Amino acid sequence: MKNKNIRTKIISNFFVVILITILVFELAVIHFVHYFYYSSMEGILTNEIKLSADLFEAYLNDDLNNIVLQDYDVFYKRTEAQVQLMDNTGIVLMDSIGSSDLGKKLESEDIISAQNGNMGKYIYKRNFNNINVMSLSAPLKSRGQQIGIIRLSVSLEKIDAVIQSIIIKLIIFGIAVSLLSLLLSSLMSLSIVKPLRKLTLIAHQIAEGNFHIKAKVDRSDEIGELARTINFMTENIQKKEQIKNDFISSISHELRTPLTSIKGWAITLQSEDYGMNQLMSDGLDIIEKESDRLSGMVEELLDFSRFVSGRITLQKEPLNLVSLAKSLSTQFKIRANNEKIDLIVNYDRDPIMILADKNRIKQVLINFLDNALKFTESGGTVVINILDVGEEVTLEVIDTGIGITQEEIELVTERFYKGSNSHSHTGLGLSISEEIVELHGGYMEIKSREGEGTSFKVILPKGGLFRE
Ligand code: ATP
Ligand code: MG
Repeated sequence: MKNKNIRTKIISNFFVVILITILVFELAVIHFVHYFYYSSMEGILTNEIKLSADLFEAYLNDDLNNIVLQDYDVFYKRTEAQVQLMDNTGIVLMDSIGSSDLGKKLESEDIISAQNGNMGKYIYKRNFNNINVMSLSAPLKSRGQQIGIIRLSVSLEKIDAVIQSIIIKLIIFGIAVSLLSLLLSSLMSLSIVKPLRKLTLIAHQIAEGNFHIKAKVDRSDEIGELARTINFMTENIQKKEQIKNDFISSISHELRTPLTSIKGWAITLQSEDYGMNQLMSDGLDIIEKESDRLSGMVEELLDFSRFVSGRITLQKEPLNLVSLAKSLSTQFKIRANNEKIDLIVNYDRDPIMILADKNRIKQVLINFLDNALKFTESGGTVVINILDVGEEVTLEVIDTGIGITQEEIELVTERFYKGSNSHSHTGLGLSISEEIVELHGGYMEIKSREGEGTSFKVILPKGGLFRE
């Protein structure tokens, strides 16, 4: 599809319409002007030639040759035009300006008409100077008999010049009107394009998950209708979101109690000596572990519903990130050793203090470490870097694992998004981590290369706790 926006479309359509209108109008005006000037000239010449022919018939009914010889010019001398007298065959006997036509036989349309007893008109270009000429011929009669032809010719040079100057003025006028229409249409198109752009911006924000935004409905036309529809859509999405969140919240609450008693009973049964065989003991072990796993998921779901409903409040306190990272590293060491993964903690000073909710930051780090270990093959390395950078700290977990594709990087922080890997779980960890980081006024950066590894970096403000 050609990249043609609606604004250029409106402007170009409008412009084409205006252009065609101007063109038709100007052609009509030019035609009319041409017709007006030429027919006025024809009218003047017709009057003059008629008068001359009538005078001739009334007073000079003589032989044409005599009249020429005696230079008897009273019947045509009032005219400015070139006068030619011809005999009936069209041979020029007299020419008022003594042109080279004298003695020649002329056979133009007007003369042929006059030979047939009618008045004739002919417009042609004079060969030597390319100027338009209008010639009128009429029969000269003596006692009812046609004895010759009179021909009046005028140059149309002045008329043509006037017409040409009118055409030039019309063209200038046309260009001016076109430019003006271009300007007006561009202003007019803004009244459509501007609200559309606003609505597009709102639609973008909705697409990014901001369902609380509302489009302004201040028009009663199609654009107003579109704004109303967008609002209706977001209200519906909000309702559905609410239903989903309520469902998740209530189901996770409901699951908690039976899970606690399943785990409790598994532990109780294990601790008593009922003469259990190995199979039963292994089974109870699995029940305990799996209910632990299930509890973890339920807790994550509960956390999720607390975040989306905004029921989370941070319990901020001064927190040493280095000691937090060290203690978590000790906790994860056993698992890392089992999976033959190196777990390293790096920091540029100790302590690195920030004002934050300890349990929540711990949750973020646990999720990063859990992911890093889950998605790294044995023999790999997981590094935790903690850096003190002025008013901020950065907390980074780098692994040498399977990596994330470029398309997936944008998606991993979305709620319930999980990869196709068998280690992928509920897909909530990163979205909850991001919420926690943002609640602390920080942000998250993810870098990854497929097959090479991944880095999750959190940049947190110290929250007023500068270098002590
Ligand atoms: P949960 O954390 O809720 O138990 P999860 O680990 O699948 O489940 P997230 O932590 O949100 O969910 O991660 C989402 C997805 O991002 C994962 O399923 C995985 O595909 C991908 N991912 C996350 N961390 C890494 C990593 N270090 N290396 C490769 N892929 C990762
Ligand atoms: Mg995870």
